[in-house]
Amino acid sequence: MTNENLKKFEKLERKNKGLINLNPIQKGGELTKVAEKALVEFGDGYSIYDLSPGLELMEMPLIKEFIQETMPKFLGADIVRITLGVREGIFNVIHSIAKPGKTILVDGNRHYTTIIAAERTGLKVVEVPNSGEPEYKINVEDYEDLIKKHKPALVLLTYPDGNYGNLPDAKRLGEIVKRYQVPYLINGAYAVGRMPISMKELGADFIIGSGQKSMASSGPIGVLGMDKKWEKIILRKSKIYPQQEIEFLGSELRGTAMATLMASFPAVLERVKNWEKEKKKAQWFSKEMEKLGLKQIGDKPHKHDLIFFKAEPFYKISLKHPKGRFFLHYELKKRGITGIKPGLTKHFKLSTFSIDKEDLEKVIKAFREILKK
Ligand SMILES: *Cc1c(COP(=O)(O)O)cnc(C)c1O
Repeated sequence: MTNENLKKFEKLERKNKGLINLNPIQKGGELTKVAEKALVEFGDGYSIYDLSPGLELMEMPLIKEFIQETMPKFLGADIVRITLGVREGIFNVIHSIAKPGKTILVDGNRHYTTIIAAERTGLKVVEVPNSGEPEYKINVEDYEDLIKKHKPALVLLTYPDGNYGNLPDAKRLGEIVKRYQVPYLINGAYAVGRMPISMKELGADFIIGSGQKSMASSGPIGVLGMDKKWEKIILRKSKIYPQQEIEFLGSELRGTAMATLMASFPAVLERVKNWEKEKKKAQWFSKEMEKLGLKQIGDKPHKHDLIFFKAEPFYKISLKHPKGRFFLHYELKKRGITGIKPGLTKHFKLSTFSIDKEDLEKVIKAFREILKK
């Protein structure tokens, strides 16, 4: 370990600065200008304690208001807690309400971290299958028989899923679970902070959003909204430190993640109002891509900015191109575009979120040119 050798750690650099970015996991986490300032302001370790010197984090007026008033209203929930992310939030909920060996019922389009969270808790998972090609739809009516059969400790719906951007009928599932008195959790990683969503309106017990995925925060951070009937179970207190909540190891709230989440929130609240425009833009983009011979998979017409395409024409080119399956990545990058996973040509997902129409037209033009070449 020479000093020379360690220099590389001092020169961390992002590779895609200034390009049009189509990467779904990055679009909703881009910081606002004020959040960039907050990031630097509270970059020093534990400097968030300077927000209200002398007080514990949960007692600080700004944080208290954000967690006890602002976020519950935004999520349509009674109580909100900060988690380390969506995956941790799912873990916090199932770890609190389900004993090892029990079963949870989830949609077939669930994120892999749902399965891992269940594994960590020692739970069995049953999946409601999707409809397969081309729409991969989750029909929420299919939950009913499986609820009767497995008596799950919890029902989970990914809304939308992170692969196809499908939005199943979450409200209808709320009506179904009510009849069976099963707790219902909505994974809103790609919804909360992009589109209007209310836990209560959808009839859910829990909702989780991701700061870094959709709320313009540096993260890692999540917001967990819940119905007050779960207070005693999820917020159970330590016997030794009666103020402290066991499930959250006291509190998960920390530093830059929280500072950027709060600083971005006013802008996030505003952008959610533009959701209809975002949706229309995604639909327009999907049509334009189909004109080039690609096929959009998932809900049609599409209802979300995360879009999955089958791209046979690009796959065919990749078979002959000297750069092989990496050609698309290189060709797009030459034209100032990034965010499609390097090496993918046959199918890929992208997001149109917060990209203006002019830039999306450039993207379409780039795809067209690459096809012609
Ligand atoms: C990104 C994503 C997650 C993980 O979110 P974190 O907040 O980073 O844990 C979970 N579920 C879905 C559907 C996702 O897209």
